[in-house]
Amino acid sequence: MSGPGLVGRRRLLQASLLGGVLAGCSTAPRGSTATALVPIRAQTDRIMDLTVCVRPFRPAGPRIETERLGDTLIVHNYGHGGSGWSLSWGSSARAVQMAMAASPAEIAVIGCGALGLTSAILAQRAGARVTIYAREQLPQTRSARATGEWTPDSRIALAHLAAPGFPEVWEEMARNAFQSHREYLGQPGAPVEWIEQYSVSDELPASSRPAGLRQGPDFASYGQRIRDLMPKWQRLPAESAPFEAAAVARSEIMMFNITQYGQTLTNNFLAAGGRFQQADFQSPVQIAELGKKVVINCTGYGARALWQDETLIPVRGQLAHLIPQPDVHYGVVYREVLAVPRRDGIVVQSFEGGEEQGYGDGSETPDRAESERAVTTLAQLFAPPYWRGGSQVA
Ligand SMILES: Cc1cc2nc3c(=O)[nH]c(=O)nc-3n(C[C@H](O)[C@H](O)[C@H](O)COP(=O)(O)OP(=O)(O)OC[C@H]3O[C@@H](n4cnc5c(N)ncnc54)[C@H](O)[C@@H]3O)c2cc1C
Repeated sequence: MSGPGLVGRRRLLQASLLGGVLAGCSTAPRGSTATALVPIRAQTDRIMDLTVCVRPFRPAGPRIETERLGDTLIVHNYGHGGSGWSLSWGSSARAVQMAMAASPAEIAVIGCGALGLTSAILAQRAGARVTIYAREQLPQTRSARATGEWTPDSRIALAHLAAPGFPEVWEEMARNAFQSHREYLGQPGAPVEWIEQYSVSDELPASSRPAGLRQGPDFASYGQRIRDLMPKWQRLPAESAPFEAAAVARSEIMMFNITQYGQTLTNNFLAAGGRFQQADFQSPVQIAELGKKVVINCTGYGARALWQDETLIPVRGQLAHLIPQPDVHYGVVYREVLAVPRRDGIVVQSFEGGEEQGYGDGSETPDRAESERAVTTLAQLFAPPYWRGGSQVA
């Protein structure tokens, strides 16, 4: 498939909305391997948790650069929008390279989310002793409230405000991270795995953008740069699609089982001699007072207050967590709703309003009605006339 949909689900959702996912994608061969899908039990009374967090979005792209604070070299590594888990290893590799240029024997990492943990582990691998200082550890950090899909260019920058050279830097980070995640495939508890993902549309592929669709922020889209990494979308023949709908397409995507993945990273950090220290810094001066030669700053959205970085924009997002279904191994996108089959529960996310949803909204208060609407929309797929997945599908 060309254009959107090659990389992240946000591209997919946007493209699906436009019918673009299905336009131009190849058609799956008939009679290929047959599988039966287990239906997702999409019921509002099976919502076991609602979580909300904000994406740390910077129009110029993440801040990965050094700053001097007295005798301390600060390496910033924050502002990864909706791509923090996906880009983590690639971004942290850049940050650690900057940190190790000062030849420190010891490094302090501030923050214990996706970026803090990967920076800490890479710094250990580079030979440094590492202490993580953080207000919260996983699973209390915002990173624990992410959906858990490979979405490396989701809300990562604005196309017209991205720093010069950022697309090339992004590509390097994305390729590095993609490769690094392979290390976590096939491990106990499946911290990282590949899943099938379906896109279901009530309309046939549209050739042009529907009138009246709201225009949001001009988010950058870099998926084409790494199109060789991802499987293509395939339109399924009507008789072999698991859903009875105008158009059904299937692809595969890398998924992070965030609970297990976070635990695996934490264990690896500790096993390599890493130490944690709880700390709530009110200003950079307190960080300088640690007396460390090198500090990597991975405070995510917390950098807005701590470093007075007003360019950080909150982008709110909410998830409903349905009771786990161990036999469900596929994700689905339908009418601005995404379901992801995580081992710790089926995650259901609404994208009402498209990519601009939550832009500038720093509220982390759950809105149950939003999630109930999403689960109710999803439920339609698993009832007549849509559901055919219990039978063998190609
Ligand atoms: C709904 C939603 C879904 C998402 N889905 C995905 C997805 O599928 N894939 C993906 O790649 N990304 C996704 N993201 C984005 C991802 O969650 C973020 O990019 C990522 O979590 C950022 O990680 P971080 O380590 O920078 O920040 P955080 O996880 O916020 O960690 C910051 C750390 O710094 C500490 N800290 C902050 N301030 C201070 C201070 N003053 N003193 C001491 N410690 C401090 C915190 O306690 C914490 O330990 C999603 C985001 C949302 C909101």
